[in-house]
Amino acid sequence: IVKAVDVTKHFGNFLALDKVNLEVTRGEVSCIIGPSGSGKSTLLRCINLLERLDGGAIWVNNELVGYRREGDRLHEISDVEISQQRRRIGMVFQRFNLFPHMTALENIVEGPVQVLGEPARQARERAETLLERVGLADKKDHYPSELSGGQQQRVAIARAMGMQPDLILFDEPTSALDPELVSEVLDVMRDLASSGMTMIVVTHEMGFARNVANTVTFMEAGKVVETGLASEVLSTPKSARTAEFIKAVQ
Ligand code: ATP
Ligand code: MG
Repeated sequence: IVKAVDVTKHFGNFLALDKVNLEVTRGEVSCIIGPSGSGKSTLLRCINLLERLDGGAIWVNNELVGYRREGDRLHEISDVEISQQRRRIGMVFQRFNLFPHMTALENIVEGPVQVLGEPARQARERAETLLERVGLADKKDHYPSELSGGQQQRVAIARAMGMQPDLILFDEPTSALDPELVSEVLDVMRDLASSGMTMIVVTHEMGFARNVANTVTFMEAGKVVETGLASEVLSTPKSARTAEFIKAVQ
């Protein structure tokens, strides 16, 4: 469902992504690990069209992301086309990105009604089901400021699911949480994974990577150092750097 080939991204002279390749099949959970500054967030942002590429290409659902091919030339697509591509990709960030002036329920209803044009009643019913699924049925009228960090992240996940995306990208969804709140968010993500959602998860939670991920990719300094089955990369890494990193984070 996702194919990234030789993705390259500069910030000025700085090479943030250096010919990165990534392939994710439908229903797969793909974890990306690596030290700070290795380019993990930048890669997610490129998949989600929040950044333009300098080289290479990304396909989502066999559709070239951000560009249209005419003959052998690539043309940037319009902002309207970008938002059409982006709406099929959910995103959950490290910091809670809920709308602060909307209740939990309103946060989930907003996208389906405003962007997908779903009837308000139907969107509300679906939002209530989603809140139930993330264990927050009783918090639907609470504002983000009245929710714990873990609860806010669960609403953020429900909101991403509400858009019925083809895949959801997670950028360190638990790293800003108090330790005792991490597992409730990981449980929701695990439930989502077992429902067959395609997920790309940047995380330092090795337990999650080990138990839930199908594949693990280790990045360093803008490059993919190693990628493979989670069981293999985490237990018998081929690269000494990967082994060192895994040892350091767990
Ligand atoms: P972390 O684990 O700390 O989140 P990361 O692997 O997600 O790190 P990125 O955020 O992708 O790393 O950043 C990769 C590199 O690109 C970093 O050195 C960062 O400083 C640089 N970078 C990212 N975004 C920008 C930007 N908008 N302008 C300039 N440099 C940037
Ligand atoms: Mg990051």
